[in-house]
Amino acid sequence: MSPLDKLGRPVRDLRISVTDRCNFRCPYCMPKDVFGRDFAFLQREELLSFEEITRLARLFVRNGVRKVRLTGGEPLLRRDLERLVEQLASIEGLDDIALTTNGSLLTREKALALKAAGLSRVTISLDSLDDAVFRAMNDVEFPVSRVLESIDHAIDAGLTPIKIDAMVKRNMNAGGIVDLARRFRGTTTIVRFIEYMDVGNTNGWRVDDVVPGREIVETLSRDWPLVPADGNYFSEVAERWQYADGAGEIGVITSVTQPFCGTCTRARLSANGRLYLCLFATHGHDFRAMLRGGASDDAITEAIANVWRGRADRYSEVRSENTSDLKKVEMSHIGG
Ligand code: SAM
Repeated sequence: MSPLDKLGRPVRDLRISVTDRCNFRCPYCMPKDVFGRDFAFLQREELLSFEEITRLARLFVRNGVRKVRLTGGEPLLRRDLERLVEQLASIEGLDDIALTTNGSLLTREKALALKAAGLSRVTISLDSLDDAVFRAMNDVEFPVSRVLESIDHAIDAGLTPIKIDAMVKRNMNAGGIVDLARRFRGTTTIVRFIEYMDVGNTNGWRVDDVVPGREIVETLSRDWPLVPADGNYFSEVAERWQYADGAGEIGVITSVTQPFCGTCTRARLSANGRLYLCLFATHGHDFRAMLRGGASDDAITEAIANVWRGRADRYSEVRSENTSDLKKVEMSHIGG
């Protein structure tokens, strides 16, 4: 039986962060001055092993989860990630295994190995096609051409449909949204524009930096008229828009201006085994202690259900001046 939370939402999607480390230092997510040499990242023994992750994922599936997304940090920094995918793929009842990556380490070989292990598809983050803007946004001088190559590797490996996630921040990359849309228009690759969010406490978020999804749709419509498309499924995060001329679709993720908490069926597991019930949560529930303390499968399954039943989170709907100072978990800790 799938537990329902206090707002009647089931748990369907589990986002699993496999590492809190990243090789990019995007200022809106992991600013260099905070995540520098002295930052205390998780130690190896603190991380859940692949076996521990798989066991927990199986027990989440017992509770109703049907989809897993691997994220981070940068998930491809975790060595042999395809071994984890292979283990997850053996879980009965799990329909979909996806990966969110910055694409920097997605070589042809890696893409093929992930596909062979059972990965269904990838989402690649790409904020700009302009090399100078892209380098400024990853803040480690990583060239955009390498991410574009990774997208080709993912397509060739059949990790499709590929989604491209572009975080949009005013006065940073907002001027490049038409270029991004143009590049993938007419292909099966779907660009999704994400409103800049007040995740964590380190990015200095200001509402003025948010480009509303509505404005993004209006801007693109000037070149190519767009018509709203139905969502694929109940808890889909992106608002989907189709090009009126049939050249494909784009998405906008409007967590700030049009929150979608009412249909949120996502749970998030950090790399050290804490369960977070919201992207903007202030604390997590420790499942590593249960795993390592010898708890039975039944006990862990029940504990997951109990935590979920207590969930009342709907941060994006109650966001205000007062909530922006809450000590929220960093996005690099629990992933997107
Ligand atoms: N390293 C992987 C990647 O780059 O896709 C996975 C983790 S990263 C935290 C996941 C996504 O979160 C990226 O697309 C990133 O742009 C997005 N993100 C991070 N901070 C954000 C913020 N403040 N607002 C909106 N999106 C954000």
